[in-house]
Amino acid sequence: MPRFFVDTPLAQPGELTLPPGAARHVQVLRLQPGDALTLFDGSGPEWRAEVTAMGRSEVRVRLLEAVTPQRELARQITLAVVMPANDRMDFLVEKATELGAAEIQPLMGERSVLRLTGERADKKRSHWQGVAQAAAEQSGRTVPLRVAPVLALSAWLAALPAPTEDEWRGVLSPRAAQPLPGAAASRVTLLSGPEGGLSDAEVVAAEGRGFAPVSLGPRILRADTAPLAVLSWLALGELG
Ligand code: SAM
Repeated sequence: MPRFFVDTPLAQPGELTLPPGAARHVQVLRLQPGDALTLFDGSGPEWRAEVTAMGRSEVRVRLLEAVTPQRELARQITLAVVMPANDRMDFLVEKATELGAAEIQPLMGERSVLRLTGERADKKRSHWQGVAQAAAEQSGRTVPLRVAPVLALSAWLAALPAPTEDEWRGVLSPRAAQPLPGAAASRVTLLSGPEGGLSDAEVVAAEGRGFAPVSLGPRILRADTAPLAVLSWLALGELG
């Protein structure tokens, strides 16, 4: 059944006009009055709905019944990634959404190839939020991954509050001696580097904010593979 994110609160049964983004999807699929669809607003529940009217630009639907499926991870996982360049960041956002991450924090470090500020940074962020939204529609997520504003790694670390008791922080570093620990924490914040890696000074700065340096073994993983490998391990670990 078609499943669309709606960027307006869905609160009670009844008719409404779909906002333009969701309406476009319905028109592209050429749905007709009476056709069934699922809508969600990112707050947790999803709605069984049906199309009631298809206009030239306006689509009306009736919300029938809300259900609250459990498809989110129990843990809140934030991937703080010094952004890889090209379309690898799109890939990372899509896969991180499918695997259940709560948030991606895009960062710029000393060795970053991709540097974004001002309007370019805002545009990229909303592009990535769109990628996360499409991946949430496809994967059945009821709460789409949040893409945070692009920041310099040093500024992000400086503003980060002390870790909470239930939080584990790790920085992925091929030079670290420790493997990943068993993950009992209910919040995980994972920092990973760009193509050229994190500098020693950046790893030390992260350690100063409570990040434990961890290794993923003897092979060097690409900047998009490394955080996704850990996220997969954590997400699949929740299946028992
Ligand atoms: N030459 C770079 C270096 O030595 O850091 C390689 C960077 S790697 C392509 C990109 C990022 O993925 C690294 O900064 C690190 O965060 C993570 N990473 C890749 N392989 C890793 C491994 N085996 N252990 C821990 N982290 C790894």
